[in-house]
Amino acid sequence: MMNLKQFSLESFDSIPAITSLRSHFSTHDPSIFPSPDFFLTSYSQKFQTITSNFIKLYTHLSTHFPSQLPDAILHLDSITPMGPHFLSFNGFYPPLKLLAAEDQLPTWEKLILEGRLIGAYAQTEIGHGSDVQSLMTTATYNKEKDCFVMDSPGIKATKYWVGVLGMHATHAVLQAKMFVEGKSYGLQTFVVPIRDPKTYQVYDGVDCGDIGGKLGLGIMDNGYLRMKHYEIPRDNLLMKFIKVDKEGNVKVSGDKNAVKIGYGGMLGLRVWLIKHFVRDGYKSLVIRYRGSKKQGEISAYERRKLLKEFAYVYSGILTVDRTTKMHRNLLENIKKNLKAALEELDELHLIAAGFKPIYAWGAVRQTRSYSVQQSLGSLMAAGTIGSYGDKVPGPTYEGDNLVLLQQVARGLMKYMEMIEKGKGNKIPNSFRFLADLSKETGGRSQGLEDLKGIEEILDRIIYENVKENYEKMKRMIMKGETGNKVWNERLQGEMIRMGLRASEVLTWKMANKEILSEEMRLKQRDLEILKDMVRIYGLGLLGKEAELACVYKIGNYEEIVKEEEEKVMKRLEGELEYIGESVPFGEEELCYLRDYRQWSEKAKDGMEMRLKEVAVRMKGLSKL
Ligand SMILES: Cc1cc2nc3c(=O)[nH]c(=O)nc-3n(C[C@H](O)[C@H](O)[C@H](O)COP(=O)(O)OP(=O)(O)OC[C@H]3O[C@@H](n4cnc5c(N)ncnc54)[C@H](O)[C@@H]3O)c2cc1C
Repeated sequence: MMNLKQFSLESFDSIPAITSLRSHFSTHDPSIFPSPDFFLTSYSQKFQTITSNFIKLYTHLSTHFPSQLPDAILHLDSITPMGPHFLSFNGFYPPLKLLAAEDQLPTWEKLILEGRLIGAYAQTEIGHGSDVQSLMTTATYNKEKDCFVMDSPGIKATKYWVGVLGMHATHAVLQAKMFVEGKSYGLQTFVVPIRDPKTYQVYDGVDCGDIGGKLGLGIMDNGYLRMKHYEIPRDNLLMKFIKVDKEGNVKVSGDKNAVKIGYGGMLGLRVWLIKHFVRDGYKSLVIRYRGSKKQGEISAYERRKLLKEFAYVYSGILTVDRTTKMHRNLLENIKKNLKAALEELDELHLIAAGFKPIYAWGAVRQTRSYSVQQSLGSLMAAGTIGSYGDKVPGPTYEGDNLVLLQQVARGLMKYMEMIEKGKGNKIPNSFRFLADLSKETGGRSQGLEDLKGIEEILDRIIYENVKENYEKMKRMIMKGETGNKVWNERLQGEMIRMGLRASEVLTWKMANKEILSEEMRLKQRDLEILKDMVRIYGLGLLGKEAELACVYKIGNYEEIVKEEEEKVMKRLEGELEYIGESVPFGEEELCYLRDYRQWSEKAKDGMEMRLKEVAVRMKGLSKL
């Protein structure tokens, strides 16, 4: 039977090999964990530390868990920052695995698993981010030389922001418009060699480097890339779904859903990212909790605030666990049952498109508030302010939040249309409640004591909100406005809010479902605490939507929610210390708790050096 600590540790580590690695290094080499020293070092020193840590972890993994190696590498970041190595395995490797033909994969895979290739995922260009279809980089097949000629036509076609491209990448998985014998075949994916892996010299025809200082992400070398008549072998086109032979014959895979399947692998990064956001928010919260404790008795107000945040985090962990299981299932089905996989893909796409914005914004909020609300939080050495800087671009990368929420909204509109056409039974499970509620007339009166009651009310609010927007949209279109105009100029804000609201409710419903599947594995006390935390999160959502419940005549829940929250909070209040101590982070990771004198000694060293520099400068000034 697990306690809360083991439960969250298992969730973040994802596979047992990582937990075992964590415990090995805790005992034998804790220097591997992030420490104040790490946060205070320079850009290049950080990369040295990261690479030396990666080598240690990789060596241990390959010696003790060789069979789990490829999978385990994807999760090393749960132990300590992996920077470029992380993105190489989580950004470059998944599309490669899914888009490379069977005879192409082993060569690349061997290089990456042996650490002889560091890869970037190069999609975005200066001129185009979310609007992927407008990417401008070209790949033109040259039959005489049997190669693709890569070009970046104009400044807007410069690949930009791409992680690992700044200094480390030897290769990039790159999207470009493919032309063969004058005909365009749309965006295709290529493996493009960037630097010589031995000398690290950038190849002729490639211009590439680091984009320079940015807020946060001090452990990622984001870069730019331009190519001019740069020739790469024909075989560097990833050919699982589209083949180009020596004579320039192009064969597109018969399955029109094939590319969608490739995308299924990429979803893994989004699901991982959600977990990463929850984890870093959690870590900041623990630092905050311990900080409050150090300052003396925690006030009643602060205790409740902390409990609400723990409730958010633990619900997040459960939600992410459920989402991870869905993704694993999807990958299994891609191999075994393509039809089922395609249905699951549509569902998981919408789920992840809604969850990524929620947890990206959540991590910004948590890391920021825990940094600025404690006196020492703004010190780089404490780790939280750096973590905040890292989270700030989270809402933009890997899919802009506002764009993703519109994808959710479009999905919901599609489901309403399916209901109208009598195809509600084809809606994926997570959204099937829309079809079920469309058949019910009038609201029900639910109690809030059990999780089911909260779920029913939240579902009804979402259903009414989606229905309202669907009807508004239809009315405007019937009056002669174009669909694009209605979406972009009239209803965009509503749609984004609706996508966010529906996704928030879904996070809670998934946490709720997941807890049922965990019941058998958790100790009684821990299970009760977890259930109460999920209740608090659900009641919080209901409180937020209470006004809409009134508008839609579902019921007046404001007071009832407060009363119910009060009951649950009373139960949880006595457990704050237990929750705050049952955390999955080692003391060495919670940098806040380190001895501050140690940092101040280091600062003094630096200060003496700087004072000498100041003296020299001031001497120059006094001569003026
Ligand atoms: C730290 C960081 C790391 C990154 N790493 C990588 C990487 O490794 N590889 C890579 O390829 N890219 C990477 N990117 C790029 C990232 O994926 C893009 O920045 C992102 O896709 C958004 O594109 P954009 O910046 O061009 O903004 P745009 O998509 O142009 O968006 C600009 C603004 O317009 C809004 N907007 C855009 N479209 C719509 C719409 N349809 N409706 C309403 N509003 C809209 C957005 O909400 C946003 O506010 C990274 C970016 C950052 C910040």
